Amino acid sequence: MLCETSKRTSRARPERQQVLHGDATVARPPSGHSEHETVDKRTGEIRQRRVDEDAGICIEGGGKQVYGNKFLSTAVRLAATPHSRVILALESIRHKSVKEDPDRESEGVALVAMVKRILKRARGTKAVTYDAALRGKHRAPLIAEGLVVFTPQHDGLTPQSLLRHKDGPCSHDLYVAEGRVCERRFIDGNETLYTPLPVEELECRDGKNSTRFYHRITIPCPTKTHQLRIRVDETDEDRQVDPKTKKQRFNRTEHLRQVPPSTPAGRRLKGFRQDSESIHSRFDQAYPHERVPAYGARGALLIYLGYAWLNNSITRALNARHS
Ligand SMILES: [Zn+2]
Repeated sequence: MLCETSKRTSRARPERQQVLHGDATVARPPSGHSEHETVDKRTGEIRQRRVDEDAGICIEGGGKQVYGNKFLSTAVRLAATPHSRVILALESIRHKSVKEDPDRESEGVALVAMVKRILKRARGTKAVTYDAALRGKHRAPLIAEGLVVFTPQHDGLTPQSLLRHKDGPCSHDLYVAEGRVCERRFIDGNETLYTPLPVEELECRDGKNSTRFYHRITIPCPTKTHQLRIRVDETDEDRQVDPKTKKQRFNRTEHLRQVPPSTPAGRRLKGFRQDSESIHSRFDQAYPHERVPAYGARGALLIYLGYAWLNNSITRALNARHS
C-alpha cells in the first residue's frame, strides 16, 4: 500500500491502496460531568464528581454535539479485501479556543501536517479523501505537494467569475460553480444558467516549487470547439491581495476542485472515506457504554493507539501472504 505501482491510472481515479482516508471523531470520557460538585435539586444532596478537564462540547460531522475529546485519524486499505485496513496516524486535536488550548492544532491544520508527514515516508500516496471540514486553504498546500485532495463541496458557495474566453467572433463567459468550470448563459434575458463544461482530463505537471494541476476543458460551440487549460491548484496571482477588497484575489482551491464532487470519479473517492466512519464506530463500540476508559486527552489517545495497534496487527496477520 502507498507504493508506486506500474498500473496506469488517471489522476482522478487512483488505485484504492494509494488513497489516504481520514476523519475526526469525538471520544466520550468515562464521566459526562463538567462540574466537580452537583446538587440534587430535590434532596439538596451534594455529590463530588470526577471531570475530564480536557473534554468539551464538540461538533461532529452532520452537526451533532458530543461531549468529549477530539481525535484525528488517517488510514489506508486494499480494494475489496476484508481486514486490510492500516491506521497510519492518530492525533489529539484542539476543540476549544486557541487561548484555552494553545498547544494543539485545529482539525484542518493538523490533517495537513499529518498528511505531509506520511507523504515524506510514502511517496506513492496519490490522493486524500476527507469530509467538508477540509476547506480550500487546507487543500492548497496538499495539492501543491502533488496530491489529489477530495472532499464534498461546502454549502453556500456562490458562482465565481473566472475569465472571458475570446476567440475570433466568439466570447464565452466562464464561471466556477459546483467545483468546476461552467459557462454562464442567460435565458429569457433574466434567468442565469451555469452549464458545466466537460473536463477531458486532470493534468499534472511539476512546477518550479510545487506541482501544478490543470483541467483540460472544451467549450462546445457552433463556431468551433474551444479547448483550454485551467489551473486547479493555487497560483501566485491567486494569493495576491486585491487592493480594493483587501482579500486574497481568488480562493481557487475552495471553488475549483481537482475532482468535482458531482462526477463519477468524485463519488468513487467520496465512498473511500466511509472506511474512516467504520474505524471510529468500531472504536466507540469497543468500550462499555461507548466511553473511553481514561480521563484526559492524553489518556484517551493512549487507549486509541492501543486500538490502532490491534487493528494493524490483525491486518498484518491476515494479509501476511501479500507481504
Ligand atoms: Zn465559441
